[in-house]
Amino acid sequence: MSFADLGLNEQLVQAINECGYTTPTPIQTQAIPLVLKGGDLLAGAQTGTGKTAGFGLPMLQRLSETQAKPLANGRSPVRALVLTPTRELAAQVEENIRAYAKHSNLRTLAMFGGVSINPQMKALGGKIDIVVATPGRLLDHVSQRSIDLSRIEMLVLDEADRMLDMGFIRDIQRIIAKMPPKRQNLLFSATFSNEIKKLAETLLTDPEHIEVAVRNATADTIAQRFYSVDKNRKRALLSYLIGHNNWQQVLVFTRTKHGANRLAMQLDKDGLPAMAIHGDKSQGARTRALSQFKAGKLRVLVATDIAARGIDISELPHVVNFELPHVAEDYVHRIGRTGRAGIKGEAVSLVGFEERPLLKAIEKVIKQTAELEIMADFEPLPDHLQPKPEPATTQRQRGGGRGGNNTGRSNTGGRGNAKPSSNPRKANPRTSQPKTPRGTTQR
Ligand code: AMP
Repeated sequence: MSFADLGLNEQLVQAINECGYTTPTPIQTQAIPLVLKGGDLLAGAQTGTGKTAGFGLPMLQRLSETQAKPLANGRSPVRALVLTPTRELAAQVEENIRAYAKHSNLRTLAMFGGVSINPQMKALGGKIDIVVATPGRLLDHVSQRSIDLSRIEMLVLDEADRMLDMGFIRDIQRIIAKMPPKRQNLLFSATFSNEIKKLAETLLTDPEHIEVAVRNATADTIAQRFYSVDKNRKRALLSYLIGHNNWQQVLVFTRTKHGANRLAMQLDKDGLPAMAIHGDKSQGARTRALSQFKAGKLRVLVATDIAARGIDISELPHVVNFELPHVAEDYVHRIGRTGRAGIKGEAVSLVGFEERPLLKAIEKVIKQTAELEIMADFEPLPDHLQPKPEPATTQRQRGGGRGGNNTGRSNTGGRGNAKPSSNPRKANPRTSQPKTPRGTTQR
């Protein structure tokens, strides 16, 4: 099956070729013909599956087939809107659609907060056909009347589950109220909670349903490793792994913003250029860090879950969970940053004794047993010498209030499943005493 077989026109096929895509991904094979037909769509697919092209390509084709009449004020109307939960995802989706639109006369605009509103206003004064926006900034434009949504023909909710998690439902409803009732609606979500189902029922008319396998850890493009290591030795082990294996582009996840900052600073001191991105950083700083990382100028990017949502770096080879996520499904989202579009990736998790209950919850989600390995010189203390886990660290709930989904919030206690693997490279766990970090940036 080729892109032309899916019914896409020559300009789009040419742009796709220039992006280096040769064959459509499963979500593209399913979504493109359905969206071209003009009906509503409910799609189960997460970032990394090629979903942006799945909705972006047929959107461009449909818009290019008709001409929009100017608005009463003479301006050309915005005809399609893509809503995303984060700034990074908005920037990325817009960048992709812009590349697909290269040989058409359709124009795109990314619209998100954290940057000045003025250039966005100026751009809206000209011809913009497709806006990719986060809900908050879009509503700022609506209230300042710099955007008119009354002529929207297509609406895409991208990562709808994340938008609800982040509390955007009221904003979404306010935005929808500004649009004409007759339009094509596409809803993409990785998970289907009751809230998503309710939103889909109110938003979509006779939708087609498609689902591509959740990109989970069974994906054979991602090799997963789990190292049992004491909390106070994690940073040294991470520096060692990066230096010893000569990893040049590593995305590292921490649980907190503070933890991300601290780790980035420590890695920098270890001679590994690193920067942190999280919600407290200015948009400028986030964009700079991300573009340096993408360009290969920054070796390590340390991110929190929300900041990393939707980060798409082609051929990202290494993802490290410095700390396991509290919500087990986030593990799948995190490691989905690697091993994309058929490229082999590696996901390494550093598992402290106190995190073993979290690991159990992750095993349930990925439907695999995580075999804990021990790295020589980084052996953890034997289990009976480990401090008891504190309830607060394993039972904390994630903010934003996702209703009714407990998966991943594991119980405290339990000694977990830590059977050190019998890897010949590994030392005898009985010799495990904390050691001072050694110089680890070997090449
Ligand atoms: P997405 O799920 O839309 O974020 O896409 C994930 C990544 O896959 C992006 O880097 C796309 O550029 C890339 N991609 C999308 N479709 C294809 C394809 N058919 N072949 C190769 N790469 C693709």
